[in-house]
Amino acid sequence: AEAALRQSQKMEAVGQLTGGIAHDFNNMLTGVIGGLDIVKRRIASGRTQDLDRFMDAAAASAHRAASLTARLLAFSRRQSLDARPLDVNALTASLDDLLRRTINENIALKIVPGPHAPHAIADANQLENAILNLAINARDAMPDGGQLTVEVQTVELDQAYAATEPDVAPGRYVVVAVSDTGVGMPADVIEKVFEPFFTTKPIGQGTGLGLSMVYGFARQSGGQVRIHSRPGEGTSVKIYLPACEGDVAGQSDGPRAVQEGHG
Ligand code: ADP
Repeated sequence: AEAALRQSQKMEAVGQLTGGIAHDFNNMLTGVIGGLDIVKRRIASGRTQDLDRFMDAAAASAHRAASLTARLLAFSRRQSLDARPLDVNALTASLDDLLRRTINENIALKIVPGPHAPHAIADANQLENAILNLAINARDAMPDGGQLTVEVQTVELDQAYAATEPDVAPGRYVVVAVSDTGVGMPADVIEKVFEPFFTTKPIGQGTGLGLSMVYGFARQSGGQVRIHSRPGEGTSVKIYLPACEGDVAGQSDGPRAVQEGHG
């Protein structure tokens, strides 16, 4: 019942989003149609001075509409996944420099590898992007400094747990947990964070796409994202990725057939 409720909340969010976009798009089209109409009537009545003004306004409206659809396309375009066995310890360790340059000096960074060199089946570039997105959110949540921890773990999701998560198969997962000691999130924010374009940041600072992209990447990889957060204490975002079958320490990262359709 809880899963069904969550699903219906998600559908409601998608409905609100598409409704909002349709409304904006309609306003832009009204600008174009209205402008053309004025121009047509002015030409018919021989009042051809100042037509540029109306043409420009119509064109500006059309450009806004085009840019809206371009952004939507960029967002919905399925980024191709190059999923293959990936040494997650090595990947997180290699991000040390980049993460240090991303966060502020007053934030301490700790990267904690998991035991037994866990391999996940995932796209390396997308996992890097996801971790970077989470680190940026962590930085923004700690304006007065704090601790950023990137920790790799391996967990077993049993049948009982998987049953509470639609589309998540029981089995072994490699978890990348990105935790901060920042402002945290109230429950009503946590509920909405995976919605595309949801942001609490000032205009120009947040796109509201970070967590929805992290979520999309995890789901496309056959995994999931869990968020634990407490206002005033901090936030931990965990990306679950399917562990590589027959995971062996020192296994190469060479190409390997990936089975489709986890869960
Ligand atoms: P953006 O960062 O552009 O706002 P996101 O989808 O990444 O978009 O995040 C959505 C919202 O979730 C943020 O605006 C913020 O309110 C909240 N959030 C995300 N990560 C954290 C965090 N680590 N600590 C506190 N709030 C967070």
